[in-house]
Amino acid sequence: MKANYHTHSTWCDGAAGVEEMILGALEKGFTTIGFSSHAMLPGDPYDWTLTTDTIAAYAEEVRTLAKKYADDIRVLCGVEADYIPNLCTPDRRIYAPIAPDYLIGSVHYVLAPDGARACVDKSPESFARDVRDHFGGQVETFVRAYFAAQREMASSFDFDVIGHPDLIRKFNGRLGYLDETVPWYREELERTADAFAASGKIVEVNTGAISRGWMEDAYPSADFRFLLRARGVRFILSSDAHSAPALDCAFDRFADAETYVHLCQ
Ligand SMILES: [Zn+2]
Ligand SMILES: [Zn+2]
Repeated sequence: MKANYHTHSTWCDGAAGVEEMILGALEKGFTTIGFSSHAMLPGDPYDWTLTTDTIAAYAEEVRTLAKKYADDIRVLCGVEADYIPNLCTPDRRIYAPIAPDYLIGSVHYVLAPDGARACVDKSPESFARDVRDHFGGQVETFVRAYFAAQREMASSFDFDVIGHPDLIRKFNGRLGYLDETVPWYREELERTADAFAASGKIVEVNTGAISRGWMEDAYPSADFRFLLRARGVRFILSSDAHSAPALDCAFDRFADAETYVHLCQ
């Protein structure tokens, strides 16, 4: 069964419409495609997310096309919802009006000690600037705050899949800010693996950084996956695709790396 549950479209920051992504998935032999548009954020509209005005129409289009292609492929309607402490939460009750098939919870922003909202994955330049201006030049403080937010998210809210759980590595290849073998980083991974396991949530193995040329590795790293696997955490494989060609990016490299489960079965 070939499935991808982390798919963006022109409803948020994707390059292709929902139907084009479905046709791309069919061409690549997928049997399931799940859409996971970025959910709205407080103070919307943002050009990279759904908005409070568009989320219903998004769900309606996905469900209409799910019916149209029902004989060929299973099409699911999900949402990738941000956790930003005190601002927004990936909680099923919020999305009840569209009755999503599943929710991915993701941390893209971390609250700095000075109250600033630092984006984890915008660009190497903004990452370096945020470390300098809002974390006293200490990458460790930023990274620890990131994993603390992940743990809080996993244990506090009702959602299904933890998205790209070490996204903080995204620009490490470019900037070299993190030695993943140091004890404090290992400790963060272990504590986070404990929290994920206790939550019972599924973790995605996300190949999105490969398709966008940032890394030659998936999130989470092999070391992090080892810790998660040892605690019985379940995985799905996902591409975080923003275009049809990226739908199965590096799936051949990670297909056998773990045992994967499937959603909504
Ligand atoms: Zn994301
Ligand atoms: Zn995504």
